[in-house]
Amino acid sequence: MTDKTLPFSRDRLEAIARDYPTPFHIYDEKAIRENARCLLKRFAWNSGFKEFFAVKATPNPFLLKILHSEGLGADCSSLPELILAEKSGIHGEEIMFSSNDTPADEFKKARSLGATINLDDFSHIDFLDQCCGTPELVSIRYNPGRRREGGFIMGQPEEAKFGFTHDQVFEGLRKLQSLGAKRFGLHSFLASNELNPQYFVDTAEMLFDLAVQVGKKLDIRIEFVNISGGIGIPYRPEDTAVDLSVVSDGIHAVYDRIIRGGPLHPLSLFMECGRVITGPYGYLVSRVLHIKDTYKKYVGLDACMANLMRPAIYGAYHHVTVPGKEDRPHDHVYDLTGSLCENRDKFAIDRRLPLIEVGDLVVIHDAGAHGHAMGFNYNGKLRSAELLLREDGTVMPIRRPETIEDYFATLDWNALEQFHG
Ligand SMILES: *Cc1c(COP(=O)(O)O)cnc(C)c1O
Repeated sequence: MTDKTLPFSRDRLEAIARDYPTPFHIYDEKAIRENARCLLKRFAWNSGFKEFFAVKATPNPFLLKILHSEGLGADCSSLPELILAEKSGIHGEEIMFSSNDTPADEFKKARSLGATINLDDFSHIDFLDQCCGTPELVSIRYNPGRRREGGFIMGQPEEAKFGFTHDQVFEGLRKLQSLGAKRFGLHSFLASNELNPQYFVDTAEMLFDLAVQVGKKLDIRIEFVNISGGIGIPYRPEDTAVDLSVVSDGIHAVYDRIIRGGPLHPLSLFMECGRVITGPYGYLVSRVLHIKDTYKKYVGLDACMANLMRPAIYGAYHHVTVPGKEDRPHDHVYDLTGSLCENRDKFAIDRRLPLIEVGDLVVIHDAGAHGHAMGFNYNGKLRSAELLLREDGTVMPIRRPETIEDYFATLDWNALEQFHG
């Protein structure tokens, strides 16, 4: 069970909405900092432990600075994400570059920042070498294929586009070494929004075993394994958060069995989580514009799937609170909709809620990762602002809302006037 409380009262939220019109995303700095500290403490047994926050989850440089000040690095997979890390003061081996199908200019940027490049494919070894030289430190993304099948959210590993095969890992490391690489890591990412702690223990064990095999077959000492991201969060009140001490203790035990006492010790453990770092600590705040009563009861919000698309594209559950009405009987059943010309534009379907009136604020929980980040402009929708609820209770804008001028910025009106169809 997970408590779905809010870090602000209705009155406080109304006051915030007077300064910053809805819809907006708001992040709870105190909770994000405490969560980051808790993660690092859990894994303190591993002296080289590092969490590289997956920038794609919440690509806001203010949040990146906060997380960096707590000791987290950045996991990037595109040129703009690398620039965001750079602008947030994150450099060198505090950046993991886990990209795929990578353009040359992105490898060049990653190299110039001194980021650790995590190669997705065997052919990228030559591609990287030709575009900007083989770095001293390099990582390989492993896809176990049939060696590891099960109910993975990403599907069977064999069907996933990511990573090197088992044999390619060995060939690849040998080739990288011949091109001058001297330090090596292994990476794997097979699940998303996974709530079973054992999955992460199994992934660490798989990579520890692989590192041992590499040491036996090649004259190469792996210095880190990166079990990547994918730790799920309890979107539903009846879900239970992944107990990180279970993950940590499980990995610690496997480490002691496979690595400690051998030539690989000390081996660093890396992660690239996004969702579990900020997801529960961000909220999409919206106001009720209309109540529609047809074959069903619809609550029309001023936010739409352009602000948070997970419910529409994955059918994902996001908890909803009507601030100030938490304790009223939840005796009404509503669909909560946005204004997109898409019937899937619903934040909730058949949700039991208190009586909702036009003008009420509605808070959609767990929007702190893969929320604003997945925003889009379809149907002429503008992306909302992002706000930071500071530790002292004040609110700071960390991204202004898009304007119609932003929406039109890529059009040339003069060229249009000269153009006669
Ligand atoms: C998306 C992604 C992550 C983060 O995933 P979360 O589910 O947000 O933890 C980490 N690494 C890579 C390579 C990714 O693509």
